Amino acid sequence: MRYFSTKNKDQAFSFYDAALTGLAPDGGLFIPQTIPTYRKAVQNSLLSMSFLEIAFETISPYVKGEMPDSALEDICAKAFTFPAPLVPVPSSKAVPSSFAGPDNWVLELFHGPTAAFKDFGARFMAYTFSWLRRGENRPLSILVATSGDTGGAVADGFFGVQGISVTVLYPKGRISELQEKQIAGFPSRKEGGNISALAVEGSFDDCQALVKKAFVDTALQDGLELSSANSINICRLIPQAVYYAAAAGKAQAELLSPICFCVPSGNFGNLTAGLYTKAMGAPIAGFIAATNINKTIPEYLENGQYKTRTSQPTISNAMDVGAPSNFERMAAHWNLDQLRTMIRGISINDDQARQAIADVYGKYGYYLDPHTAVGWAAAEKLKLDGTAMLDGTTAILSTAHPAKFSETVESITGPVPVPPSIQKAMDRKVQSLTIPADISVLRDFLLENNL
Ligand SMILES: *Cc1c(COP(=O)(O)O)cnc(C)c1O
Repeated sequence: MRYFSTKNKDQAFSFYDAALTGLAPDGGLFIPQTIPTYRKAVQNSLLSMSFLEIAFETISPYVKGEMPDSALEDICAKAFTFPAPLVPVPSSKAVPSSFAGPDNWVLELFHGPTAAFKDFGARFMAYTFSWLRRGENRPLSILVATSGDTGGAVADGFFGVQGISVTVLYPKGRISELQEKQIAGFPSRKEGGNISALAVEGSFDDCQALVKKAFVDTALQDGLELSSANSINICRLIPQAVYYAAAAGKAQAELLSPICFCVPSGNFGNLTAGLYTKAMGAPIAGFIAATNINKTIPEYLENGQYKTRTSQPTISNAMDVGAPSNFERMAAHWNLDQLRTMIRGISINDDQARQAIADVYGKYGYYLDPHTAVGWAAAEKLKLDGTAMLDGTTAILSTAHPAKFSETVESITGPVPVPPSIQKAMDRKVQSLTIPADISVLRDFLLENNL
């Protein structure tokens, strides 16, 4: 498979380059030359295949020619060590009768080590990077800035992975206790660890600015093999197609009709992966793009104007994105009319999300995290409006475990049961180094602490 920049269809890149550089030299995002399609036999037997078999069939065309089957099988087996169950949740009697059966299904994507769906992409990326760099003398140094959620998934995904060291920069005092432990709770370099956490005296924007400076710093370029692991990397997007395919196959078998996925969205990587899966031929009716009040894409779908804006804070803060990066990928593959046949956009405010948490807990005893609640409220709204072009059953992607955002959820439902992954993280001790937002301090740290 060859890759192109969304900004230039003339120059082709290998998977190796697309994965390890992350961003194209012209600033565009990498996209595959064409979206591959499933072999007919695979498309018809998604139900009977195991998650790992589906993972292999889904990902292999994207790495064809550069990664042998055995390597991909091995990477999938190491990355996808937890389930992604499709769970029926009975819904309100008030919905139209055309939505028969358990009206809402929840695709639980929070059973990984950091209790959020980003584990799928981050773990696949970690093992893929390690394989791509096999046999290289110099270790790969990954540098990431995080506002909270991404850092934990990346640190956990890369922890203990051979030939790679990771430095995570986060804004000191501005992330939750759990998020900090998920980033900074690993053994230090001195203790043989490969993850460093730097608490930067500043904001998330300061962290991001430092990372950008590091990438153009000549001393660092000479001294290290630097790479990034941010969410726009194609290597994080592709593995997300796997759970859509697995869930669509199961739903098709049980419901005898294609399912609609409702995706709580911020940067739109998750939804874009869903669009890829549908284009590959998985039985998917369409998508609901559920956003909080940062509704750039729902607005675009409605009035055809793509207008980015500054993000506004909400209780679903991993979705506080005013300029969704992956729009560039969506627009490179599909025009507005095509997108409108596949996606309905809905924006949900904090009150509506809180109400969904209360309703679903009150009626069914099922806990929604604030992001999943945006998805639930959006799906319900579409049904009640009676405007569902997406006839049939909806599966809401649950992007995080409710205990991960316990402050918000518990203020509505009372105590939320804590899963073992979160308990394990809470038991860790934070080992981070505080640094000023100064490139010379970061430079010295990186050069001294390289593996
Ligand atoms: C990152 C994140 C999202 C948004 O996903 P995108 O792919 O950026 O649209 C939603 N929910 C949670 C919990 C997240 O961490």
